[in-house]
Amino acid sequence: MDPQQVFCPQTDCPARGQSGKGNIGVHSQKEKRFICRACQQTFSARQGTAFFRLRTAEELVTVVVTLLSHGCPPQAAVVAFGLDERTVQAWHARAGQQTRQVHAHLVEQPRDLGQVQADEIWAKLQGLKAWLAMAMQVSTRLWLGGVVAVQRDRSLIEQLVRQIRACALPRPLLICVDGLSTYVNAIRRVFREPLPRHGRRGRQRLQPWRGVSIAQVIKQYARRRVVAVRRRIVQGRQAAVQRLIALTQGHGGINTSYIERLNATFRARMAHLVRRGRTLAKRLSTLEHGMYLVGTVYNFCTDHDSLRIRRQGRPDNAGHRWHRRTPAMAAGLTDHQWTVRELLAYHVPPPRWTPPVRRGRRSKTMQTLIDRWAPDHG
Ligand SMILES: [Zn+2]
Repeated sequence: MDPQQVFCPQTDCPARGQSGKGNIGVHSQKEKRFICRACQQTFSARQGTAFFRLRTAEELVTVVVTLLSHGCPPQAAVVAFGLDERTVQAWHARAGQQTRQVHAHLVEQPRDLGQVQADEIWAKLQGLKAWLAMAMQVSTRLWLGGVVAVQRDRSLIEQLVRQIRACALPRPLLICVDGLSTYVNAIRRVFREPLPRHGRRGRQRLQPWRGVSIAQVIKQYARRRVVAVRRRIVQGRQAAVQRLIALTQGHGGINTSYIERLNATFRARMAHLVRRGRTLAKRLSTLEHGMYLVGTVYNFCTDHDSLRIRRQGRPDNAGHRWHRRTPAMAAGLTDHQWTVRELLAYHVPPPRWTPPVRRGRRSKTMQTLIDRWAPDHG
């Protein structure tokens, strides 16, 4: 238990989310509790992780969640480990919430994306029909997140595009999508930024991001088979699109095959999740939990042949010439392959404390708190 690595998780604490500031001490080694000297509250070492307040051993929870994240039917886990079905569901929901937070904290950060591919799949899962729209960064194979909805409408696509934007820096960017026209308008609407105001009042004006190219892969079907594929650039210059493709995938042309392959993985791993006889909202939230669990385990815990790089110099101790990498490693989010247990035990920091806005002079106590925990609000 190293208090230097720990932050206070209490939402009402001015020190929340900040580690290495000397305010955390060990309260009880035996009970694995820390104390925060900024708010005088004690907390469990597991607070803020998927294991908080679970009575079952972390090992068993980890094994069951690992199986679920690879497509094992929950019913199989119930039988194999003699668990109650509701227990397995509850663990799955916890893992879904945890991975969603890890994703928001580590993946949804602006980065130079290069090329993104987006696509939707129509999932027919045990009587529930739903759409999953998802996106990935091609060069690192990083899954950028997804949206679950009953209909493939403007709202679904716009939410996905917002998710892409949350992961993007304003750099040259190619977005490859299918023939769905909704994308083009959604991308144009979402990839805008406010123009600087010059003292004028009224509505803030927006200008489009420069360097965003959009390409479409339009497939023609006959009897559920692809008979023709048309590729076109809807926005951006041919040379810019070519450059981004060369940079991010090395060879080939405009395509959506990277995200299509990933979609197939998701479909297989989520096939057994949704149970009949539950309310629609519950089933959709199960799907969303499942999607984040599968996506985050894919990003952080699974290495890929295509991401390996040759080691500099001699092979490592085990004789490996290649350095194997997960998408999260390729994207620079972490330096090693995570275990599922690490993922479930990861502490996502709460948002930084901001001092309350009040008129008039601040009290001395408040000023002391601000100086220590929010100096940029001083
Ligand atoms: Zn505290």
